[in-house]
Amino acid sequence: MYAERVVSGMRPTGALHLGHYHGVLTNWVRLQHEYPCFFFVADWHALTTQYDNPSSINRNAIDMVVDWLAAGVDPEQATIFIQSRVPEHAELHLLLSMMAPLGWLERVPTYKEQQEKLSSKDLSTYGFLGYPLLMAADILIYRADKVPVGDDQVPHLEFARETARRFNHLYGREPDFEEKAKEAVKKLGNKKARLYAELRTRFQQEGEREAVEQAHALLEEVQHLSVLDRERLFGYLEGTGKMILVEPEALLTKASRMPGLDGAKMSKSYGNFITLRETAESVGKKIRAMPTDPARIRRTDPGDPLKCPVWQLHLVYSDDACRQWVEAGCKSAGIGCIDCKGPVIDAILKEQGPMRERARFYEEEPDLVRNILADGCEKARDLAKETMRDVREALGLGYS
Ligand code: ATP
Ligand code: MG
Repeated sequence: MYAERVVSGMRPTGALHLGHYHGVLTNWVRLQHEYPCFFFVADWHALTTQYDNPSSINRNAIDMVVDWLAAGVDPEQATIFIQSRVPEHAELHLLLSMMAPLGWLERVPTYKEQQEKLSSKDLSTYGFLGYPLLMAADILIYRADKVPVGDDQVPHLEFARETARRFNHLYGREPDFEEKAKEAVKKLGNKKARLYAELRTRFQQEGEREAVEQAHALLEEVQHLSVLDRERLFGYLEGTGKMILVEPEALLTKASRMPGLDGAKMSKSYGNFITLRETAESVGKKIRAMPTDPARIRRTDPGDPLKCPVWQLHLVYSDDACRQWVEAGCKSAGIGCIDCKGPVIDAILKEQGPMRERARFYEEEPDLVRNILADGCEKARDLAKETMRDVREALGLGYS
């Protein structure tokens, strides 16, 4: 049976923080119940910016997986694996590179942006330019339908879609496509086959987009079709030939910006973060050291929550009653800043409680983590191999 697949990855560049938890991991944990999910450690992507210092990648990768597990990613539900352990990603990346227009890569907005942002590093490398293409390969190799992305990643996903389209356009004609497509139509059963044929005619003769949509809905309903037959039927419908690679769709994650200790977005580079597994002692220390409204110099000075980074954390962690207490207390100098920080500390510790426990469990069982990854890599690799068989064949590299 064919189910919609979700693929997402993260670069192993250091301990994960609460920004990653709120911005990414809670979403993954939800998605794993809704779709077959493939979550991977993007270790090759880490090399694109860290090629001069790769020694920490291995350690970071394992730590990051422990962070994922701690956050509630469940290896029984989701497939967790390491990108470089599925070398088919590299093969697809290479083959796609033959047909990826340079202009497309140069136009991806993050290319120039990141080069400017990380100006201390020489990022005029082949690998860095190819980052979006590698990402496209990561997604396309699993024929993923859904990719959870934030706004900033939308151009990358669009790039992956265009790459798939271009590939299918160039190589999607099997010599016996027509025949295979007709075979697939028969598999729909009489009634659906007739409806499919009717919708196909309506689109190809009248250009009715609606007919395509109806046909897509019809095909989605049929459970027993193989991925390839389904793709053939999509292609036959629109007269484009077989779709060897599937165009992924964005699952737009709602914008989330976890504030850091200084009010700016929590980020590794700003040093304003709290890690998922930070000790209770350190959490207390960091929150107590947070700056507050600069106008509140003495305990008796009234303050304005809108000028205070602690308030932003209340917006993430506190209920209405607590927020009212903070607002009234701050503006009237009824409470001090340390009082105000108390509930934030408690809430973070409470959130981290189950994470710390799960992390401790996995820290004590490194073999278990290794096994989870070995299983995940094997599962991912089986799927990747399937796609690569079709890709090679389409390029005339089947050698069978
Ligand atoms: P860097 O400083 O290297 O940019 P970072 O800590 O900002 O590191 P990224 O690698 O940029 O982390 O982010 C990885 C993912 O986590 C991205 O999808 C990003 O949107 C999300 N993320 C990071 N920080 C936050 C945050 N403060 N709030 C919400 N999401 C975040
Ligand atoms: Mg960042």
